[in-house]
Amino acid sequence: MIKTDCLIVGTGLAGLFTALNLDEKLKVCIISKTKIEYSNSVLAQGGIAAEYNDDELLHQEHINDTLKAGSYLNDKEAVEFLVENAYESIKKLISFGVQFDIGADNKFLVTKEGGHSSRRIFHSGGDATGKNVTSTLIAELMKRENITFIEETMAVDLITENNQAIGMICLDKFEEYQSIYAKKIVIATGGIGSVYNATTNDLLATGDGIGIAYRKNVIVNDMEFIQFHPTAFYDEKNHSRQRFLITEALRGEGARLINVEEERFMKKYSPKLMELAPRDIVSQAIFREMYDTWTDHVYLDTRHLDAKFLKNRFPTVFNHLKNHGVILGVDLIPVSPCEHFLCGGIETDLNAKTSLKNLYAVGESANTKVHGANRLASNSLLECLVFAKSATEDIHKNIKSKQLVKEIDYNNIVSYNYNYKPIRKKIGDYMDEHVSIVRDEAGLKLTLKTLKKIIVNLKKYPNATKNYYETLNLATTAFLITEQALNREKSIGCHYRIN
Ligand SMILES: Cc1cc2nc3c(=O)[nH]c(=O)nc-3n(C[C@H](O)[C@H](O)[C@H](O)COP(=O)(O)OP(=O)(O)OC[C@H]3O[C@@H](n4cnc5c(N)ncnc54)[C@H](O)[C@@H]3O)c2cc1C
Repeated sequence: MIKTDCLIVGTGLAGLFTALNLDEKLKVCIISKTKIEYSNSVLAQGGIAAEYNDDELLHQEHINDTLKAGSYLNDKEAVEFLVENAYESIKKLISFGVQFDIGADNKFLVTKEGGHSSRRIFHSGGDATGKNVTSTLIAELMKRENITFIEETMAVDLITENNQAIGMICLDKFEEYQSIYAKKIVIATGGIGSVYNATTNDLLATGDGIGIAYRKNVIVNDMEFIQFHPTAFYDEKNHSRQRFLITEALRGEGARLINVEEERFMKKYSPKLMELAPRDIVSQAIFREMYDTWTDHVYLDTRHLDAKFLKNRFPTVFNHLKNHGVILGVDLIPVSPCEHFLCGGIETDLNAKTSLKNLYAVGESANTKVHGANRLASNSLLECLVFAKSATEDIHKNIKSKQLVKEIDYNNIVSYNYNYKPIRKKIGDYMDEHVSIVRDEAGLKLTLKTLKKIIVNLKKYPNATKNYYETLNLATTAFLITEQALNREKSIGCHYRIN
């Protein structure tokens, strides 16, 4: 048994930034179900959206762009809070040693992405923003004596007492149960990409925090708003469920979308914004083009751009494509949409507090309501930073000295060998077919029925393995997405219903 003041579950940007902002007098334990350095935050290429100045007009534009991308379903107060705290968040990252790209004039090189009315995206190492930011924060955290990192330990269930969170049951690297008791618990477990058969996410994104919270009746909402990224690299030879992302910033620098007949098609769908329309519009347009041309991809065209500039500006993308026989600036890049980001999640307020006392949620697992029906590009890393910081402010104000502990007996749950792959595949198949970019009532109902059966069976035969809990969380999050998609009858943002 471990006792700590604060337990943070997840070592992506949200978890790391929470830990770094906590008072060094507090004992903090941060766990990751894999290695510390693996997360979706590491994969982020585009950057962090922020107006690095005091210009109120520019701040207002960032607010307006966020609301517009979210089809005005966002919480306006939360969006204002996000944008107002953006400048401070970037400053804080710089104070920890993060180096954002700077031009010859010594000014930050900010870029533009879909839905942004001006250049305001900070990036680092060209397209290695996530990697650079997380590695800098991990190095900083390693210096802190109050912080204990525990790797390869998976949170599986919350421990509650008198309607408050008091601890977490975990499976350690030997798949032995361990309990960690904490006065405050922060869920920072990221997204749900593995619910689908194709995603840009690291496959560790199995919706664990959401499944854990939901099992204790914590409010989880807006799950129907799944963002499909328009331009994941389409590689016929890749049989992994994880797809390589081609950053939207490439379109920000002029890349165009053409169909297999080499027709530039975005003018039909968004004549003004063209390739820089919000992601829901671009993904739905590509889906339509693929349908009309009987193919499973379109192309990103960079042939009119300066190949040398592209190589320097997008080194990660350049190298990945080169390894797959495609040269940026020379060849057409086959792309298609796939799952990318969950806009909803565990409902939180401006202090990242959930509906359960002493439980917080930050990052992609949280529903701060800043994204509404569709996320504006590069707002999610910003959301991780802003709400992680506000969670710590609330923790500092409300942490009490008393720690509750309740003995849990896990001896009744045994572990046994079982192959969960077919169940995971079935979940992915149903979600791809019926709960993807285009949805209809019959498909949603059929999927819901199937998922209910899967969950009942999984619960009937508990198994003390990480694979079991991940599969249960996948089924639970898939169920929540489908149920909430069924309840929202009208199309809005990234939720598109044909009937
Ligand atoms: C390819 C790609 C590119 C992106 N580019 C951008 C971008 O340019 N700008 C932007 O704003 N956003 C971008 N995003 C989105 C953004 O990266 C994520 O929304 C954000 O990083 C989520 O951070 P997080 O800390 O919430 O979760 P993550 O970074 O996913 O971290 C989750 C952590 O939780 C741990 N974990 C999960 N479950 C458990 C468990 N049960 N027990 C213990 N640990 C657990 C994981 O091991 C991991 O450490 C991108 C996403 C992807 C996939």
